[in-house]
Amino acid sequence: MKGRYRWPDGVRCAVCLTVDFDGPSHETGRKLRPLGANAVGRYSGRCGMPRYMDLFERHGVPTTFFMPGFDAECYPELVQEAHRRGFEIGSHGYLHESWELGDEEEALLERTHDILTGLMGTPPTGWRSPSGRKSARTMRVLRRLGYRYDSSDKDYDLPYMVEIDGQRQDDMPELPSSAYSLDDFPFYRFSMTPPSEVLEHWKQEFDTLYHENGYYMLMVHARSGWGSGTPARARIVEELITYIKRHEGVRFFSVGGLADWVRENHASFD
Ligand SMILES: [Zn+2]
Repeated sequence: MKGRYRWPDGVRCAVCLTVDFDGPSHETGRKLRPLGANAVGRYSGRCGMPRYMDLFERHGVPTTFFMPGFDAECYPELVQEAHRRGFEIGSHGYLHESWELGDEEEALLERTHDILTGLMGTPPTGWRSPSGRKSARTMRVLRRLGYRYDSSDKDYDLPYMVEIDGQRQDDMPELPSSAYSLDDFPFYRFSMTPPSEVLEHWKQEFDTLYHENGYYMLMVHARSGWGSGTPARARIVEELITYIKRHEGVRFFSVGGLADWVRENHASFD
């Protein structure tokens, strides 16, 4: 790990609080009708994402919403509103594919790319893999489509420069979400941890990373069910923002905003 990295203007800790939309694409891709108990993804569109846009705007915190293409087709007005309000929208699969795609992959990446580009009038520049799935060809296709960063891998404590076919790409950073515990999914899907304890946990991660390497990447989901779209769970994200803001030298970034800075200073990163 290089010791030379530093954040802009003496920033001591770079913070990205990101939201994966994970709407009805998730159930539809698994051949489930997004109704009844399987309607938890529709909550993202009706409540979760509007709630998070208001929350982040209220606190002046930039963020990135990662959006599956199918969900963008279901809620085009949300994508347009988020874009109009200055939030970044990144790609996140079409049907939130967590399975091996084979030859289909390229067409699906293009499909979501075209949907988001059409809605925003400008192409998305970032991608996060749905369920962490990637293939050997993913980065090559993203590069061809003009993507400028990836935020999928879980193998490092800091951003680093992507390698494609063994070649370091000085203009394409990986912004890893490496701490599995900085993800709401395991807490609300497996251990049913109360939000108050999740907040303590995320604060503890912050305390450590603030002093250690200054890179904090949180990933929550806008849905109900195992997501953080619902009021009490969104409330702890708000409390986390308040807590983080009390620390000196912290700056909040959208993932694309931080990627821009890493790209411009690529020599300082592995
Ligand atoms: Zn997802």
